[in-house]
Amino acid sequence: MKQKINIVKVKNVKIGEGFCVIAGPCAVESEEQLFKTAKLIKKNINILRGGAYKPRSFPDKFQGLKEEGLIILKKVSEKLNIPTVTEVLDVRDVALISEFSDMLQIGARNMANYSLLKEVGKTRKPVLLKRGFGAKIDELLGAAEYILSEGNNQIVLCERGIRTFETSLRFTLDFAGAIYLKQKTNFPVIIDPSHATGNPSLIKPLVKAGIAAGLDGVMVEVHYNPKIAKCDAFQALTPKEFNEIFK
Ligand code: PEP
Ligand code: MN
Repeated sequence: MKQKINIVKVKNVKIGEGFCVIAGPCAVESEEQLFKTAKLIKKNINILRGGAYKPRSFPDKFQGLKEEGLIILKKVSEKLNIPTVTEVLDVRDVALISEFSDMLQIGARNMANYSLLKEVGKTRKPVLLKRGFGAKIDELLGAAEYILSEGNNQIVLCERGIRTFETSLRFTLDFAGAIYLKQKTNFPVIIDPSHATGNPSLIKPLVKAGIAAGLDGVMVEVHYNPKIAKCDAFQALTPKEFNEIFK
């Protein structure tokens, strides 16, 4: 039988109670960029996202502002009084990032990085664990076990699309898989329709579907001016589009 949901607390936000909206730019690019974006969507979000360390497919692409990005994230978080989530790529950065962000994100590319999972498990920070795009549900649950095994049960699972033969969209969102995770585990489960589809026009119907299916939230990429975004520009919503969906 399904157990009671394990509520994950990120500052004053309780993930697992109601529908949690996490949004913000793919990467923190400057204080102006993050502040402008966050301010415009603040009334419709629960948690602000923004990568300071970016896992890019090629090393010549923008890798994030790193420490400077963390400082900006914290500054904007304090100014607007909104909790944050940011990705940790490397075991060596876990302690530093924990000082600057309220929630740690393990991205798809690191879902099976067992030393990193254990390291975030040693912290008492809430963790947003994204499914690897080549990972089975069982392997995602194995990754969560690694975090749990170090004593951290503040875990939110995120379905962000997997690789299949289908190439019309960026990835294939395993929606049934997300619902199955809700049935099978007591972790809150959210979807990331931005990375899953790479297509802003699909965000609204997928958010509606997520709510209808009883999922615990979404993570969506938003940029005050997607055209100039340094990362994942094609998939970001404008604040206006975002607010239209989430108002
Ligand atoms: C992200 O959310 O910034 C990200 C890189 O997503 P994923 O790990 O799902 O590719
Ligand atoms: Mn992105």
